[in-house]
This record gives sequence, structure tokens and C-alpha cells, in this order.
Amino acid sequence: MNQKTLLKPVSHVRLFSFPSHRPSGQTNSLPSTLSAAQTQRNDETIKLLTEKINKLVNEAEAAGIEGNVEQAQGLMKLCDQLKDERETLQKQNDNHAWSQTAELAAAQEKQMEVCEVCGAFLIVGDAQSRIDDHLQGKQHVGYQRLRTSLEEIMVRIFP
Ligand SMILES: [Zn+2]
Repeated sequence: MNQKTLLKPVSHVRLFSFPSHRPSGQTNSLPSTLSAAQTQRNDETIKLLTEKINKLVNEAEAAGIEGNVEQAQGLMKLCDQLKDERETLQKQNDNHAWSQTAELAAAQEKQMEVCEVCGAFLIVGDAQSRIDDHLQGKQHVGYQRLRTSLEEIMVRIFP
């Protein structure tokens, strides 16, 4: 069996084929149609939260090394809270991107397809610049990496 036939089932099952971030019943999520300004603000907050989280992790590590276990645990707990907060914001922005695409497709009465790599909705025959944006986007790139790693693992397990 050559590599190609082995890898085929992986892309075929489409493990990650549907976005998991569509509007959910979460009580703490804002309406899925955010304004562009709001998504921008979310992006900035996400960046700030990431910086804070990284700083807290460093502090927790330092505290752990010094033997301040309680302090380290406290810092990690705070860190988890910030991560939750960041995830909520990220979900809001993902929902926004998703509903934007859906609205655009509806407005233009265009057909949609599901991206084979990341499961995002794409407009059939969309402008090249929007396709490029998608291909360079965080979600698509992230899933692409996952898939590549998965294929590498599969090759290692079933050489
Ligand atoms: Zn994609």
C-alpha cells in the first residue's frame, strides 16, 4: 500500500468538517451579529487577555519553582478564568464571521460550500481576495496544521 491510498480515508471522513462555533445556547454569549467595531474591540481584548495569560503563566511557574504552591495554583486559576473569557470573545467573533458570510451569500443569492479543510462556509465563485483571506485566516491555517500533523501521525502508526 502506498502513502496516498493510506492518507485518503483521513481526508475522506472529514473529521473536522463542521464548525463547532455556531450560535449555541450559552447564556453569556452576546447576539451573534456583532458590529465590525465590536469584533475589532473583541480582537483587541483577546490580544490583551493573551498577554495577561502569558504573564500569569510565567508568574505561576516562578512561584512554583520557589515552592509557593498555593500562589501558583491561585495564579493558574485566574489564568483559566481569563482563558474562558478569551474563548467567549473568540466564539463571538467566529460567529460574527460565520453569519457575515451567510448574510453575504443570501444577499447575493449565491451558492455556498463547506471548506474541505476547516469546515467554514465559503461562497462558490467568491472574489479571489476573499478566498485568499480565508486561506490565510487563523481558522483555516489552524485546521490545515492539524490535518498535516494527523497525516504525519497516521504515516508513523501505519507505515
Ligand atoms: Zn478553510
